[in-house]
Amino acid sequence: MQRTLVSESTKKIGETVTLKGWVNTIRDHGKITFIDLRDRTGFIQCVGKNLEKVTTESVVEITGKVVERPEKLINPNIETGKVELQIEKLKIFSLASELPLPIDTDGYDIDENVRNKFRYLDLRRPRMNKNIRIRSKVTQFLRNYLINLDFIEIETPILTKTTPEGARDFLVPSRLQQGKFYALPQSPQQYKQLLMVAGMERYFQFARCFRDEDPRSDRAYGEFTQLDMEMSFVEQNDILDLTEKMFSKLVAEIFPEKQIQKSPWPRISHNEAVKKYGNDKPDLRKNKNDPNELAFCWIVDFPLFVEQSKDDFFHGSGTAKWAPSHHMFTSPHPDDIKHLETNPEKVRGLQHDMVLNGLEVGGGSIRISDPKIQEKIFKLIGFSEEQRDQFSHMLTAFTYGVPPHGGIAPGLDRFMMAILGEPSVREVMAYPTSSSGQTSVLDAPSVASDGQLKELGIKVK
Ligand code: ASP
Repeated sequence: MQRTLVSESTKKIGETVTLKGWVNTIRDHGKITFIDLRDRTGFIQCVGKNLEKVTTESVVEITGKVVERPEKLINPNIETGKVELQIEKLKIFSLASELPLPIDTDGYDIDENVRNKFRYLDLRRPRMNKNIRIRSKVTQFLRNYLINLDFIEIETPILTKTTPEGARDFLVPSRLQQGKFYALPQSPQQYKQLLMVAGMERYFQFARCFRDEDPRSDRAYGEFTQLDMEMSFVEQNDILDLTEKMFSKLVAEIFPEKQIQKSPWPRISHNEAVKKYGNDKPDLRKNKNDPNELAFCWIVDFPLFVEQSKDDFFHGSGTAKWAPSHHMFTSPHPDDIKHLETNPEKVRGLQHDMVLNGLEVGGGSIRISDPKIQEKIFKLIGFSEEQRDQFSHMLTAFTYGVPPHGGIAPGLDRFMMAILGEPSVREVMAYPTSSSGQTSVLDAPSVASDGQLKELGIKVK
């Protein structure tokens, strides 16, 4: 029998249809049983007599006639509330055991490890199911929007060399070159800049970024997704303008119930934000209890450098005073280049952060495209010759004709968390790692076999 979707059943009154899905609930009234059947499009009440025993969450096929409900039995709370299905045949594809966690609640109070271990069940939870579906709508919108503006989607390697964003790298041992390691990219920063040298002009990618830093509510452990973008022949304003238009249209189309508090989005200098709000990601909502209020803003004019801290394990040798406040490819403000050598603290960077409801949801900058300035930055952040050599490909590439370029990378998880008003990024990811770094469902990290280690030439201490 051809499958009818639950949502189509209301248009098939009087017809016999076959539905397939999960048993959402069962109400047993002796001889008569009510089954609410759920598929990806919704629920419908099905009613039958002397049915085979079935459990909730079992996967079934139900064939029967769609009939109108009597006026007083109409349920206005569900889309199919005007009809029900009279079961003629119930076929059980797979009988479900009792679930190890409830899935009909919002789930916030359930232990994270249990939710993660049974994530495939946790995702049946209506709230989670909805979050994942809306996330897909958002990515589809963004992809279409950028393609229409002549952007091209390009994948960059995951097995690569360090691309520092100020966090610790994940290393992957090489089997073919024992004793050597790949690093997982903290972002595709260098590759996207090199794509500009390659003449691609407008690049984007839903990029997975890997950073070994402690998890927080707005940062999952290990990996996250950015809408990574880079453009040639642009100034900072072009990047802000394009991003702002794109996200404003996205809100209007996908979240029409939400209002953007102020358009154009306020642009606040870093200095002013810190003075006025005490931080560089101010929450500008008038009413923080209103889930439909969206307060976007831009923070610009960041200082190019911050004082290097002792635990700054990557940047420089640890002996230099300065570390990049964004990353080391951010261009100094042209008016401040004169201070680079004498007063680095006075130099502003052409950096921009996108803030939504108090969360930093993206950052980017106009990049350095002059190898001489890049060299100066390397010196100021205390790079040794060896460290400089790790990035010599950038300096070399820039000697072969590099367009002025810049970009931004809105974080998809953070954006979804902010717009859906979720308390953690893990609520908008299908398979997040737990706060202790345990993966969902599959039990990683795990020990490697002796054979694997031998092949890699590695001994665990
Ligand atoms: N790579 C940067 C980041 O991950 C974003 C950018 O500069 O485009 O924050």
